[in-house]
Amino acid sequence: MRAPSIALGSLELVPLSDGFLALDGGAMFGVVPKPLWERVAPADARNRIRMGMRPLLVRGERTVLIDAGCGDKMDAKSAEIYAFDRSRHLDHALADAGLTATDIDVVLASHLHFDHAGGFTARGQDGIARPRFPGAQYIARTGEWEDAVHPHERNRASYFAENYVPLREAGVLTLVDGDGEVAPGIRVRRTGGHTMHHQIVMIESGGQTAVFMADLIPTVAHVPLPWIMGYDLYPMDTLSFKRAFLREAIERKYLVFFEHDPTVSAGYLREKDGRVTVVPVVSG
Ligand SMILES: [Zn+2]
Repeated sequence: MRAPSIALGSLELVPLSDGFLALDGGAMFGVVPKPLWERVAPADARNRIRMGMRPLLVRGERTVLIDAGCGDKMDAKSAEIYAFDRSRHLDHALADAGLTATDIDVVLASHLHFDHAGGFTARGQDGIARPRFPGAQYIARTGEWEDAVHPHERNRASYFAENYVPLREAGVLTLVDGDGEVAPGIRVRRTGGHTMHHQIVMIESGGQTAVFMADLIPTVAHVPLPWIMGYDLYPMDTLSFKRAFLREAIERKYLVFFEHDPTVSAGYLREKDGRVTVVPVVSG
């Protein structure tokens, strides 16, 4: 199967998948009551909703992978809690794009939660986690790294050292402070909100812009302003960044990527009568 790809100026964007997981619907929609959210995100018998894990590949001068899904290190208990469905995972998606792990030059982290950074490392036969992309330089934000290596009671369930500490030990991790370009045509922008140093990724070429929104707007259902995750550490920061960002994305016609949507990888935002909707470009 050939992976769908999208031309953006001189770059090629390839939406990937590391499979699916299920998270508590109430936690995913914060203050939004269940009778509203279950219309757009049906819950299973344990109140969980199905979500994708959709890393994005950017092919240009360098081959850049943005986030990497949860990977294969999760134990049986976690697999049960999160209902992982990785019958088709990132290796399959890379193969569909004609690539293997060795072709990735740069791995960029939106943040270091397990469903984004779990795939950064893999265990060898000896059980030790090592960088999964042998030729890659990994990039994360300094503040996010500091939070990930000093977890507290409210975020501990999302941060697992084996997903990122081995990168540092192997000398393949670059920590970046502030917003700016991290590869040709690719720049990061801090949103805060979800975590203090959560960042989105702006991809620009030939006058066109695409945005990898990570957990700022994880699914199409999270486009309305008050639909903000209960997981977010600083929800008012999410709200103010989201308000400004939606305006910008509509006016400048950004192509936006939804990392956790169960069906839609990417689309354009449209506003009509004060309501913002998504016109899907890539689904499935
Ligand atoms: Zn997250």
